[in-house]
Formats: sequence, C-alpha cells, structure tokens
Amino acid sequence: MLWFLRFSTRIGVSVLTEDAGNVNSPPRYHTFSDPAHIELLRSQLLTWYDEEKRELPWRSLALTEPDVDIRTYGVWVSEIMLQQTQVATVIDYYNNTFSYFQVAGAVDGNVIRVLCRLRAIGADSTSPAVTEALWGLANALVDRERPGDFNQAMMELGARVCTPKAPVCSQCPVQTHCHSYSKVKLISEVLSDIEDCMNSGNCPLCPSEPWDDDLGVQNFPRKPAKKPPRVERTLTCVVVRHGEDGEDEFLLRQRPDKGLLAGLWQFPSLLLEEGKSEMKQKRALCSELSGTLGSSLNQSLLHYVGEVGGSSHIHQTYVVHAVQLHDTDATTQAENAQWISRSALQKAAVSTGVKKVCS
Ligand code: SF4
Repeated sequence: MLWFLRFSTRIGVSVLTEDAGNVNSPPRYHTFSDPAHIELLRSQLLTWYDEEKRELPWRSLALTEPDVDIRTYGVWVSEIMLQQTQVATVIDYYNNTFSYFQVAGAVDGNVIRVLCRLRAIGADSTSPAVTEALWGLANALVDRERPGDFNQAMMELGARVCTPKAPVCSQCPVQTHCHSYSKVKLISEVLSDIEDCMNSGNCPLCPSEPWDDDLGVQNFPRKPAKKPPRVERTLTCVVVRHGEDGEDEFLLRQRPDKGLLAGLWQFPSLLLEEGKSEMKQKRALCSELSGTLGSSLNQSLLHYVGEVGGSSHIHQTYVVHAVQLHDTDATTQAENAQWISRSALQKAAVSTGVKKVCS
C-alpha cells in the first residue's frame, strides 16, 4: 500500500500557501489559490465526515488519551494491525505520526485520487512534479484546527465516494470544487481553463494522453504506462555425460552472486548480443565450455534442440543446444561448475528457465 507522511509546521504550511505564485509552483489551475474556496472545502468535507464517518474503536484513542506516549503507541499498533485488513486502506492514517497534533497533510492512494480529480491532475501520479504538487495541495488544504479529522475525511472520501472505478459524484461533498466533474459536466466557468491547460502541451500535471469521454472523471489520475518487458535471447547448451551410476548428468554453472537470479545454477549460457551472429556467439560459448571442461569442444557437436520461453518480467527466450559427451571421465575445471543428475536437478537451486529446458 502506498502512503507517505510529511510534516510541516504551521509556519511551513503558511509559506507553502503564500508561495503559490512562485515560478516553480504548479500552474494555478491545478492549485487552490482562493482562501475562501479552501475554507469552504474544509467545512464541506468535515461536515460530511462528521455525519458519515464510521465509528471505529481505535479512532477515539487519538482524541481521548492524554499521554502522548500511550497515544502514539496505540496509534502505531493500530497502524500495524490495520495494514493487514481492507479497512486499512480507508483509515489507517487516522493518527498521523497526529499523535502530536501537528498540522500536516497526509497523502495515500485514496488522497492521490481525490486530489488528482479535484484539480484535474492527469499526469503520471508517481512523477516528481505530481508528487510535489500533491503534497503542496495536501498541506495547503488540511484544516488548521482539525488536521487529523481532515486527513481521515479525505481518505474516507476516496474510499467511499471518489472510488477508483465507480465514483459517486452525485453524493460528493466537495463536488463544487472538482475540476474533473466540471469537465465532464461541461461547466463553463472552469471548462475553458481546463481546456487551455490541457491543450498547452507543456503542463507537467496535465495528462499526456487525450481525454477519453468514456472514462469521465476517471481520466484522473492516469496510471503510468507499463514499460514493455525487456526482450532477451540467451544461447544455452545442455551438456550431458553418463554418470558413474549410469544416470545422465548435466553440467551446471553458477550465476554471479550479484544481479538477476544471483547465485542460481544454470546450464552454460551466453546472452545473445544484438548485432552479433548466433554462429559467432555459439563459437564463444563453445570456447567457454572448453575452458570449463578442460578439453576442446568442437562446435559441430552441438545440436539445436529448440527454443524455450523464460521469466515474465523479462521476455526471455532460451535458444537451446545440446551435446552428449562420450568421455565418461569428463570433468570440470572451474570452481563455479558442477555435474548434477536429473533427479538432483529437480531439487537444486536452479532457475525456472533451467527446469523448463529440462522438461
Ligand atoms: S466530484 Fe466526483 S470526481 Fe470529483 S472529488 Fe467528488 S467524487 Fe471525486
């Protein structure tokens, strides 16, 4: 679960608010610049929260316990416990690190969604510009007298009204402040500002994708585009010898102790480099194998077996060759190499790719 807490003193918050016109500040369209609007939003949200909040036993602790240590401890315990439950996504911030009654905005997944929709922030919500803007908004909006309730209210609004897939805008207490809602409803007072900002092409907070009518307010926020998986092809050679007990044995080499699949055992392999011919790399693999075996291995002995798909986060293809050694005395000369029987292979610390090649 994504959540962050930052603190700002009353002075810090006032600096943030007064700094709204700074050249590095987000475009005004994505902020709350009118103190009267901020006051109204706080009041509407807290009124809704006072009427609608669910009574949860741990909520009273932060308000009633006079000892700050006990209050903080109780808050911490609930935090840990609640992280395991559904309800955690709604209320587990009721107590910001609030145990100390500091005025600070809280930003979690629910708040990100609410703020992005309120101010029509559609750029990747994990980007530095958006993260900074969201914290600025959270700190500017948080109620100075009831910061804890305000933050809980924002989270509860995100969890119960401004939900990811079925926002109930008709029941939203802050609907009149919502740029997303205005855009969907074509409310003219703010629509031209939205269009201007989105069409400017240089706003770091507007979505880069075109507006999708079918999504409505769910145009905000947008999920970052998934990176396509890395595509790799690996030349692999299954070297087999007859073991002393008659069972076939396979030559394995250990991967480096750092990086992907660190320390796992695999068939001798070579990542195929772009621009280099497979023939050339097959020769390189044979040369490596010769070093491991301590005797020259002729490339012509390798026969092509087929191709096997590998892990999902990397689009990996193993181009598999095999070679049967007839010299039963074939040994290994390298420390990070071993012969292993088929039955032992199934239990060994080998990558899924190796098991797939074996099957
Ligand atoms: S009006 Fe709709 S989109 Fe806007 S904050 Fe409320 S529920 Fe979310």
